[in-house]
Amino acid sequence: SKAKLFDEKVDVKTSFKDVAGLEGAKEEVQEIVDFLKFPEKYTALGGKIPKGALLVGPPGTGKTLLARAVAGEAKVPFFSLSGSDFVEMFVGVGASRVRDLFKQAKEKSPSIIFIDEIDAIGRARGKSNMSGSNDERENTLNQLLTEMDGFGTNSNVIVIAATNRADVLDKALMRAGRFDRQIYVDLPDVRERKEIFEVHLRPLKKEEGLDTDFLSKQTPGFSGADIANVCNEAALIAARNGKKAVGKQDFLDAVDRIVGGLEKKNKIIT
Ligand code: ATP
Repeated sequence: SKAKLFDEKVDVKTSFKDVAGLEGAKEEVQEIVDFLKFPEKYTALGGKIPKGALLVGPPGTGKTLLARAVAGEAKVPFFSLSGSDFVEMFVGVGASRVRDLFKQAKEKSPSIIFIDEIDAIGRARGKSNMSGSNDERENTLNQLLTEMDGFGTNSNVIVIAATNRADVLDKALMRAGRFDRQIYVDLPDVRERKEIFEVHLRPLKKEEGLDTDFLSKQTPGFSGADIANVCNEAALIAARNGKKAVGKQDFLDAVDRIVGGLEKKNKIIT
């Protein structure tokens, strides 16, 4: 079976309302929405619209969500792929995949290309990464750089990439006219965790008076993805126990379970 090159979703329903917290990052990407919607407003005085932005931050903090929300707010097609796909699935054809992707995005412009885990292809050249064929990866990276440089100033395709390892990226990626904007997406603080809980509690049947201040204080170090996970797990625990609504104890049990999972994961890494 042929590996899928990328997901194109013209009708992205995600909006900034789905992204809790991250006020600074949202403000920065709002500008990208504006570039996509009103390019002439920005090019009127001879300025060039940026081609790329890099979202940098720990796993599960909402980078993909934010990129999708940009597409949803600007109402443009969203072409997404993951850097790890290149390493795992597109062996031998990485460069041509990149070329196809950009060709399609240009045909559908204004549009967004989202590259998750860009570090998988964008690691500094000439450094081995243990995962085998380095030439292949470098070819792919070079093609990506070529495509970004080849964009006309008015192609109106914006490339958003995400990584939690900005330190390993090839500096060539960050050069002017490429991913020259870096936007930090950090783990949420207690106030932001409360907002994230509110987003993910919306679809649940919950007990009256559930205290989101309490829940946010019980979850230091949790990412948005962890919190989404807690909410879902709590609903499953409550259902398993035959309850009609999700209550405080279900959340505490879910938090325990997720903390257990995180500890195991850390043990494997270290
Ligand atoms: P990774 O680096 O692992 O790819 P990521 O930063 O791209 O992670 P997402 O995939 O966007 O993280 O987040 C996973 C899920 O966690 C989201 O679909 C959403 O349900 C939830 N989530 C994460 N951050 C937030 C947030 N700030 N507000 C609301 N939900 C969030």
